[in-house]
Amino acid sequence: MNRNVVAADLVRVLARSLKMPGLGRCYETLARQALEEHWSYEEFLHEALAAEQTSRQDSAIRHRMREARFPEIKTLDTFDFSAAEGIAAAQIAELARGDWIGNARNVILAGPIGTGKTHLATALGVEAARQRRRVHFTRAADLVRSLLEARDARELGRFHRRLQRAELLIVDELGFVPFDRTGGELLFNLLAERYERRSVVVTTNLPFAEWVKVFAGDEKLTTALLDRLAHHATVITTKGKSYRMRKKATSSDKEKSGLQEATHSE
Ligand code: ADP
Ligand code: MG
Repeated sequence: MNRNVVAADLVRVLARSLKMPGLGRCYETLARQALEEHWSYEEFLHEALAAEQTSRQDSAIRHRMREARFPEIKTLDTFDFSAAEGIAAAQIAELARGDWIGNARNVILAGPIGTGKTHLATALGVEAARQRRRVHFTRAADLVRSLLEARDARELGRFHRRLQRAELLIVDELGFVPFDRTGGELLFNLLAERYERRSVVVTTNLPFAEWVKVFAGDEKLTTALLDRLAHHATVITTKGKSYRMRKKATSSDKEKSGLQEATHSE
């Protein structure tokens, strides 16, 4: 057997046992390229190690994305800022850099249904995951249900610790489903624990004045929660009509005008 073939097999085995899949995948192509382009040994070694580093970074990001449990992947590059009222592209670009997460600040996205709140919250979460931050996405109603279940199973402490590991907790759709008093208190405790320690994104269809409805009419608890959430927060208020409805409206307008043109030309 050719010496190179033996060496190649040994590299494959070693790459596997050293847990260097990127190097294992790339080194043969790199070796060929090195030969053709007369790289030095140092250049070849550098390229091979760089391939391993890239592969590790990619798999860390994939892992962060999976553990975030986004219901649907939405990114900033598919967000149409010209169709979004109340949202400044520059402000979102600044948030996408993620410094606020390191500083345990919050983001509150409030506005009517269909105005891009979940899209933006997810996209900010995706950016954070790409920076290899731990993110956890949940709907408010699901979170409260899980909190109640954890409490009943006497596992509330463990559940809190697990959520606390996420540098960014995204709580979507606060306001759709009101909580009973216990549910509201459990959510309050969780969010109060994150205050000035970990970041939260909340999306809601309700203006702040109506949050009390979600928390079983408990004024004191709602005020205390809003106080903590909004203290170090960027509040973004989306406006206007639902994006999907508008899309539908513009495409049927186009169809209509297309029809008219067709009639005119006859
Ligand atoms: P909300 O959470 O405010 O109810 P979503 O973020 O779920 O609204 O938006 C509804 C749908 O419209 C989603 O599919 C979302 O991707 C899309 N959408 C909303 N606003 C925009 C926008 N400005 N650009 C691109 N897609 C948008
Ligand atoms: Mg939504």
